[in-house]
Amino acid sequence: MIETLVKTNIEGTLTIKQAYQQFCESTNQIYGLRESLSMARIVFEDEFGITNFERVGDLSKEQSIRLLEIQRRLSNHEPLQYILGEADFYGLKFKVDANVLVPRPETEELVYWILEHARLSVYNQNLSVLDIGTGSGCIAVTLKKELPSLDVQATDISGKALVVAQKNATINKVSVFFKENDILNTKGWDQLESYDVIVSNPPYIPVQEKSLMPENVKTFEPQEALFVSDDQPLIFYSTIAKFASAHLNKGGKLFFELNEFNAEQVVQILEKEGFEKVELKQDLNGKDRMALGIKN
Ligand code: SAM
Ligand code: GLN
Repeated sequence: MIETLVKTNIEGTLTIKQAYQQFCESTNQIYGLRESLSMARIVFEDEFGITNFERVGDLSKEQSIRLLEIQRRLSNHEPLQYILGEADFYGLKFKVDANVLVPRPETEELVYWILEHARLSVYNQNLSVLDIGTGSGCIAVTLKKELPSLDVQATDISGKALVVAQKNATINKVSVFFKENDILNTKGWDQLESYDVIVSNPPYIPVQEKSLMPENVKTFEPQEALFVSDDQPLIFYSTIAKFASAHLNKGGKLFFELNEFNAEQVVQILEKEGFEKVELKQDLNGKDRMALGIKN
């Protein structure tokens, strides 16, 4: 299929409609119909600026070559967002590369939940927020964009991720303070302040589950963003809960993204750390994916 496309395109005989159909067919074989239609829309609209896939006309030679490169890399299971260097999140564009996790739809739901709480808060003019393990900066940047009165700070252990996150703050025209910090190293905690909201989508996949993960995730996404050791799979939740109980203002809120299989254990961790009104929230698929605890 890909070879056919090379020949026809370079000879200039492939119309936009044919190129679109061929792209969908070849990606469908690996990703399924829904995903392939969504990827085709992103490639043709965002990358090539073509919104009408039925339009009469040919792809340019450059577009044909680029399309082939995209298809080749997709057939290697590389995430489309890395190939295009960009991901959509909460209606915003984020630069992404292999140093940061591709922002996920479930994390959009987490941001939505935090915003609901922040908007209800009578003090929201002055709320301070810390995002731990910010990666691309998707949580921190979106919160600031949606509620400019928030004072948003974000940390990550990866300096390379923070370079990407800073770019995303600049592109989206918001000011977020980024700081390199290893949250598991308690000696670094006093470099951080006290906050009204702390949020984290930490690594939570035990290494032993790696072989079960899809190729595009386990081969291309940063390992330190995803995996935790098998003997301490909840280390980030227990450590961040401890950190938050010392670094949240009274009435402050700790939000976590989590895996449905460890939701109950995360609730126990929060309660053991003295958090009140601990609650779980389900994602759109009805799975426990988020937790909240309030500092008394
Ligand atoms: N917040 C982003 C999102 O929701 O898409 C990225 C989340 S990713 C699951 C976890 C992030 O935590 C990665 O960016 C990783 O570099 C960072 N991280 C891993 N270990 C860390 C540590 N010890 N201290 C701080 N950040 C850490
Ligand atoms: N939701 C991500 C995935 O399933 C994992 C994110 C994380 O480890 N925090 O790939």
